[in-house]
Amino acid sequence: MADIIYTYAGSAYMNITNKCPCRCIFCIRSNGDGLGSAESLWLKKDPTLEEIKAEIDAFDFSPYSEVVFCGYGEPTQALDILIETAKYLKEKHGLKIRLNSNGLSDLINGRPTAHLLEGVVDSISISLNAPDSESYQRVARPKFGEEAYSALLKFSEDCKKYIPSVKFTLVDAISEEEIERCQKIADEMEIELRVRNWIK
Ligand code: SF4
Repeated sequence: MADIIYTYAGSAYMNITNKCPCRCIFCIRSNGDGLGSAESLWLKKDPTLEEIKAEIDAFDFSPYSEVVFCGYGEPTQALDILIETAKYLKEKHGLKIRLNSNGLSDLINGRPTAHLLEGVVDSISISLNAPDSESYQRVARPKFGEEAYSALLKFSEDCKKYIPSVKFTLVDAISEEEIERCQKIADEMEIELRVRNWIK
């Protein structure tokens, strides 16, 4: 059975969906089935809220102050469940909530969504991954068209109003010149950018 909750590098993670509208060239899902304590992060089907709550009730969160929604999929694909699960983790265990996201929630859900995360998510890491729409299509390969990149930037800007800590990440699968342009965009938006190494 696949893991809904797993631990990795000293943090606890929630794996609530395998759905994702992207096919990033660096996606860790192509490196193996599991990560950290999880033998497999491939869910037979996305779990219900009840199934997730049962896993939470059976898990010892005492070593952790924060839970990260990440896993083998884009958490905002299961937006309602993400929000309800985060509320449950906060109420029951007083945990801080971090969301790792591709930033395409508004396109996925067909409406503005950043405001729904207010009071629910404490910090968000958004995968910027490219300095323009053309290179974003090349690197993230979203199922959406050219509108994907501008939607990502709009969602990120919105998040600043509702989430205390907003950060960008990118994987160094692009050129130095493209990384510099990403940094400029991040600076202009006053969002910290973290560059991660491509783990192949
Ligand atoms: S957005 Fe995340 S889960 Fe989706 S393909 Fe890219 S790296 Fe993988």
